Amino acid sequence: MREKKIVVWFRNDLRLHDQEALCRAAAKTARVIPVYCFDPRQFGKTFLGFPKTGPFRTQFLLESVAALRASFRSIGADLVVRVGKPEEVLPNLVEMTGASAVYASQEVAEEETKVENNLEARLWAKKIPLERFWTSTLFHIDDIPYPIKNIPDVFTEFRKESEKSTRVRPTLPAPSALALETDIHPGALPTLSELGITEMPAPDPRAVMTFQGGESEGLRRLRTYFWEEDRLGVYKETRNGLVGAGYSTKFSPWLSYGCLSPRKVYEEVKRYEQERVANDSTYWVVFELLWRDYFRFIARKYGNAIFRPEGIRNDQRLVYSNDVRLFQKWVDGETGVPFVDANMQELKHTGFMSNRGRQNVASFLVKDLKVNWTYGATYFESQLLDYDVCSNWCNWNYVAGVGNDPRENRYFDPVSQAKRYDPQGEYVKRWLPELAEVPPSRVHQVGDLSGEEQSRYGVVLGADYPHPVVKYGHSPART
Ligand SMILES: Cc1cc2nc3c(=O)[nH]c(=O)nc-3n(C[C@H](O)[C@H](O)[C@H](O)COP(=O)(O)OP(=O)(O)OC[C@H]3O[C@@H](n4cnc5c(N)ncnc54)[C@H](O)[C@@H]3O)c2cc1C
Repeated sequence: MREKKIVVWFRNDLRLHDQEALCRAAAKTARVIPVYCFDPRQFGKTFLGFPKTGPFRTQFLLESVAALRASFRSIGADLVVRVGKPEEVLPNLVEMTGASAVYASQEVAEEETKVENNLEARLWAKKIPLERFWTSTLFHIDDIPYPIKNIPDVFTEFRKESEKSTRVRPTLPAPSALALETDIHPGALPTLSELGITEMPAPDPRAVMTFQGGESEGLRRLRTYFWEEDRLGVYKETRNGLVGAGYSTKFSPWLSYGCLSPRKVYEEVKRYEQERVANDSTYWVVFELLWRDYFRFIARKYGNAIFRPEGIRNDQRLVYSNDVRLFQKWVDGETGVPFVDANMQELKHTGFMSNRGRQNVASFLVKDLKVNWTYGATYFESQLLDYDVCSNWCNWNYVAGVGNDPRENRYFDPVSQAKRYDPQGEYVKRWLPELAEVPPSRVHQVGDLSGEEQSRYGVVLGADYPHPVVKYGHSPART
């Protein structure tokens, strides 16, 4: 009898370690056919005109897929790569190879689940099952103490209850050998320009670090941060930093594309706690990963409400405009508020921004510019290296005050935040070199400089650096 074949469809799970779909398929047969589809719908333009997947993330994705292919080749198989809609590509491959099932990781948001459902329907017509596995979170969806519809709307409640009763499942081993499928052409990876990216920004020497896609690079970052540089034990004290690689883990791009499994991170935290130190900092990385889990569960609970200006609270009171001119000033880092502009410049030139920065620029867009926050979230989707549909849109809901923040009208004052987190102005001067001569005590409020100070510090408002585009630092954006 011919050995059965199983197609494993890779999505945001670009790894061999702790890959349940792959592991389950490999347990049934050595004749696994791994496939990745570059879905053209992910590489079009957003309604605001910029690419849905911008240059940084496209590059990172291409590197991650290339690395996955190399990993499969090293165990005797190959990754089949196609450009096309998964719901069309995969049924064809099933037909060509005579595969008996398709295995894949399950996603939660609309675009992703639509593809899954369409694929399932087409496979069903051929009597081929699509088996889905939950692979993206630390706590497995089946292990948390709630059905999704009852997930609490306050994170602390979710975390405390889940921590009491949920154990993190152990990671699954990577398969060590698979058979090569010779009936099908593996296919070449598309180029950046085939994915709509005609211009790749030059690497910026001011970037926090170089992010290279792929599983081994993700695992390398884990080793470097936890073990070689020994930073895990002080994470909680440094995590609000702004400059350099060391202040936080920088795992996010690898977690978002699934090059790194959160359970792998967890196991390494536990090992570090055994071998080095267990303290608030070691716990805090797990705490942050639980935020990530939480937003995934919340996105599943609320569906498309996460994408609407009224958010998951269906809050109609938010006051906002669709002022594209103000929005563009924000995108270009030209609002005249140095802390906001510096962060937006970093994002524009590198595809990364710290968590502190993200909270501040998002709050500024919503509460000071009073611009539709979904524009900001759409820009982040395009630009962030670590874009993750649930983390992005649910964090935006939170900052906009239409999500899971139990405190109404939380406001990030960009000046006091800047003074607290960038007291010497090192960060803003890095990204706004025109402010180099302004002393730390004045650099976060350049808009207030007198004419005499402007000439003394070599920065003329309106010429070298913009006047603030709005009066900021006050009224909540609600009726
Ligand atoms: C408006 C806004 C948009 C955001 N968009 C994204 C996004 O698209 N993708 C994304 O991965 N994160 C997003 N975040 C969360 C957070 O800013 C990043 O995860 C973090 O800055 C990544 O850097 P790090 O890996 O060094 O984080 P660390 O501080 O080292 O945290 C470790 C890991 O925990 C997770 N994590 C930490 N904070 C959060 C959080 N608030 N929400 C969810 N997960 C978290 C991430 O996976 C992160 O890699 C957003 C935050 C805000 C305020």
